[in-house]
Formats: sequence, C-alpha cells, structure tokens
Amino acid sequence: MQRRVHSGVNLLLESLPEANKQRLRKLMEPVGLPRRTELFKTAEAPRYAYFITSGLTSVVLTLADGADMEISVNGVEGFTGWLQLLGPQAVQAHAFMQIEGTALRMPMLDLRREFEADTELRNAVLQYAQHQVLVGHQLIACNRKHSVEQRLARWLLMVKDRVGIDNLPLTQEFLAEMLGSRRTSVGTAMGQLQERGLIEGHRGHVRIVNEAGLRKQACECYPIIDAYYQRIYR
Ligand SMILES: [Zn+2]
Repeated sequence: MQRRVHSGVNLLLESLPEANKQRLRKLMEPVGLPRRTELFKTAEAPRYAYFITSGLTSVVLTLADGADMEISVNGVEGFTGWLQLLGPQAVQAHAFMQIEGTALRMPMLDLRREFEADTELRNAVLQYAQHQVLVGHQLIACNRKHSVEQRLARWLLMVKDRVGIDNLPLTQEFLAEMLGSRRTSVGTAMGQLQERGLIEGHRGHVRIVNEAGLRKQACECYPIIDAYYQRIYR
C-alpha cells in the first residue's frame, strides 16, 4: 500500500479551514525536539501543547517499581496536551520524544481559549481524542493476549506509519520498555523476526526490510489500529 509521508506537516492542523489554521499558527512557534525531550511531566499541567510535525512522542506510565509502560504514541496526526485539554484530572503519565523531531508549540492557555471558541478546532480535537481512546482499547486487549513477537511487529509498523521511515532509531532496551516486556523476551522476538527476513537490527536501529511480511506476523490489532489511523482525517 502506498502511504503518504507527512514530514513537516501536522495533519490535525492541516485538516482545519485555512482561516482557522492561520489564526492558530500565529499563536504557535516551531521548535526542534531532540530524542528524550520531555513534553509533559506526571501529574503536572503542561505549559505547552506540541503539534508534532516530525518524529514521534511516547506517553508512558511509570509504575512504583520504576518500570515504564507505554500507553500511547503521538505523531504528525496529533498533539500532546489533548488529555489535559479535555478535563480537570491530573494525568498520571509523562510524554517524551521517542524519535527526534519537530513541532509547532502553543501555550495551553491559548489552546484552551481556542478550543472553546473555535468549533472546527474542537471537532478535530475530539475526533483525535476518540481515535486515541479507540487505539488504547485495542492495546489493552493486545497487551494481555498477544505474543511479544506479534506485538513487536505491530508496534514497529505503528511507528513506521507515523514517522514515514524504514530505519527506526530504536534500541532493544527501549523496545522492551515500550512493550512492557522483559529485554530477553524482546531480544528473542527480534531474533525471530530477523530470521524470517522481516527486520534487521543493529547499532541502536531497527530496519524494516519486508513490510508485507511484518504485517502478516503482527497480531489482529494492527489492521484495526491501521484502519483507525487511515480514517482519522479522511
Ligand atoms: Zn495485538
């Protein structure tokens, strides 16, 4: 399947009418976001929302034993801060750049005002929030029921779809963190995918060499999540 590569553009902003986009753009500034840049901290109200224009953000829960568990990703289809925008609850998760990139950042105070005043923006934000919740539902089932190999295949495809590159700067340790699995299990799963000729892993990178094969190896969750992703700004 031919996929669009969206580097440099935020799809949520692009989906808005030109006049709305231009007004919002005046409240934003472009920023570079190196890997591991923190975009919001656990239980703290963020100062800025980041509309991602390249790269990928992970939203992660840290458990009492220090283990991290990824609960969602934000790419060029969305922005960080939508959880805090929807209501008053403190968010018990933090967000950081998993793959370095760029964003248009906007003060949360301005975004709150625009969210209330601008119907088109509000509809786009709610559509994105619904998308994130639906993907989250699928991932709850996925993390309980599917093998590390299936989940690793699904996760690599999800990341590739959002950043548009085949050679992903991801270490085995980081993958284990993101999948909430032991490093040894992730190492075994990576070995299996490599033996099948679907990926190559070396020096902190994972290259997808056979995307069609990787799709066959991924669990049933991938096509469901992919359909949500494809549909979001159609
Ligand atoms: Zn699954």
